[in-house]
Order: sequence, then structure tokens, then C-alpha cells
Amino acid sequence: MDKVSIVIPCYYEEKSLPFFYKEINKITKEMVSVEFEIIFVNDGSIDKTLDIMKDYAHIDKRVKYISLSRNFGKESALYAGLENSTGDFIAVMDADLQDPPELLKQMYDVLINEDYDCVATRRVNRKGEPPIRSFFAKCFYKIINKISNADIVDGARDFRLMRRSVVDAILQMKEYNRFSKGIFGWVGFNTKWLAYENVERIAGETKWSFWKLFRYSIEGIIAFSTVPLVISSFIGLIFFIISLIMICFIMARTFIHGDPVAGWPSLVCIIFFVSGIQLFSTGILGQYLAKAYMETKNRPIYIIKESNLE
Ligand code: UDP
Ligand code: MG
Repeated sequence: MDKVSIVIPCYYEEKSLPFFYKEINKITKEMVSVEFEIIFVNDGSIDKTLDIMKDYAHIDKRVKYISLSRNFGKESALYAGLENSTGDFIAVMDADLQDPPELLKQMYDVLINEDYDCVATRRVNRKGEPPIRSFFAKCFYKIINKISNADIVDGARDFRLMRRSVVDAILQMKEYNRFSKGIFGWVGFNTKWLAYENVERIAGETKWSFWKLFRYSIEGIIAFSTVPLVISSFIGLIFFIISLIMICFIMARTFIHGDPVAGWPSLVCIIFFVSGIQLFSTGILGQYLAKAYMETKNRPIYIIKESNLE
């Protein structure tokens, strides 16, 4: 009998967990030919999330819980769940029912009957999302796909079912700055995409503010592309060429017209402009350096405080 592990990262999900468990319990009971393992990862929330998980573990021996020592972020929580999963197939889903559990059946059928290693999902629309957020999201996907070699699908959710081999590949990527969407794309394998209409979260609130998403997208770009560095060197080159032309022009003008002292406003503008560009480029460099610095520390991706793993 095949074993399917379901990994669910949870951060302040006391309101949505009961709905989630009810749904997942129903679906998993319907899939009689499969053995299940449900791994809840508490990503440092200090509300009732962990207590609820423990209650479920009591009444349902398929339930495992892992509680991290603090909030490590969804990406790390996912890693914790994947690393401690034992199934032949591993599903990853959110706790807020934005990932419809009934799709699991269809996903499992695909992996059993077709030649795919992974079934991923994407939402076809962004109904219920602020338009400005959708706009920036679209821009982000356009940019990152142009400048990185990780194939990142617009609207892709983290909800997916993978074979063990795919998960093993993901676990080999032990980087500290984890951008899951990029990592999933980077490891390759045959992926089938299922599309569905966006579903709004069942209860509680999203933990992603606009700025958090913005920072996350910058991290994604830095983690999967070095093109910003190329761009800043390119801008440097262009300015070098412009300055050569200007030097020639000014020397010629001085020889012809003498040296009238004028034009300091333009000088100030140029200094401001160029030093702005310089700081910008140093900033880009600094971002990469900071990431490299964090990676060299080789810190653990997550720390478990308590769990019911054997
Ligand atoms: N999550 C997490 N750690 C965090 C933030 C979120 O484990 O620091 C979990 C959260 O509990 C949920 C999933 O990641 O199961 C997606 O979060 P959310 O629904 O807030 O994001 P959205 O769906 O709005 O993108
Ligand atoms: Mg959500």
C-alpha cells in the first residue's frame, strides 16, 4: 500500500485548523487504497495552534506534529516537514483551505497512472486579492522568469504532490535563504500543472503584508539570479562611457572658448545622480554579500522544540 505524507506549515492557524482537519480527514478516509501521514508543523505560533495539533495527534494516530522553537518562516517549516516525512508520495498544503484538499485524489491518480514525478497547482485567477498586489505579482513573475533559470509559473501555489525522489532532491538544497517556488522549479522533474479558481482563506488572516511579499520577491530574485549584479556593472560601464564623452566635449570647449567658470548647478546634479547610482549598485552588491554571509554560517534551517515523531 502506498503511503502519502501531507505536510502542513501552520502559523497562527487556530481558527482554520479545525476546518482543515475536518476536510482532510474526510478526503483521506475516502482514499481507502492509501495510507496517510499528516504532518503539522507549528512555525512558532503561540496561540492554540499547537494544542489543537496535539489534540488531533491524540485521537488520530496518522497525525504527527512538529513544533519549531520560533517562527522560522513558511519555507523553513516546509523543510522541517519534508525532512521528517516518510511517505512514498509527499503533499504540501496550506492550513487555510486555499488549497482544495479534494484535488489530492486527482493528483494521486496522475502520479499513479501517468509518467509524472510531481503534480503542482496554479490558480487561474486572483479573485479576492487587492488589484495592486496582483499587478506587482505579475511584474515579479515576468522579471524573475527573464533573469533566472528556475522556471517559475505565474500563479503557482505551493500545493503539490511529489514522488519521494523529488523531495529528496529538494532536501539536498540546504540553503538558508529558501525560496520554495524557485527551488521547486530548479530541481526539475516532470511536473503536471492543475489549474483551479482562487479560493479565499477559510478563517484567520494572511500573514503576508504587501511589504513582506515585496521583500520576499527581492529575496527570490537574489536567490535565483545574479542578473542584478550584471545590470549594475552595465550601468557603471555606460556611465564611464558617458563621462569619457563629456571630458572630450569639455576639453574641446575649453580650448575653443577659454574657461568661464559656470555650470555648477549642472555639476551638482551630476554628482547627486552618479553618487545615487553608485549607492544603488553598492546596495545590490551588499544584498548578495549579505546572503552569502548568512549561507556561510551554515546555521540549521529549523530547530524543533517538541514533536511526537518517533
Ligand atoms: N505560514 C507559516 N509560517 C509563516 C507564515 C505562514 O508556516 O511565517 C503558513 C500559514 O500558516 C499557512 C501558509 O503558510 O498555512 C500560507 O500562509 P498564508 O495563508 O498566510 O499566505 P497566503 O495564502 O495569503 O499567501
Ligand atoms: Mg493562505
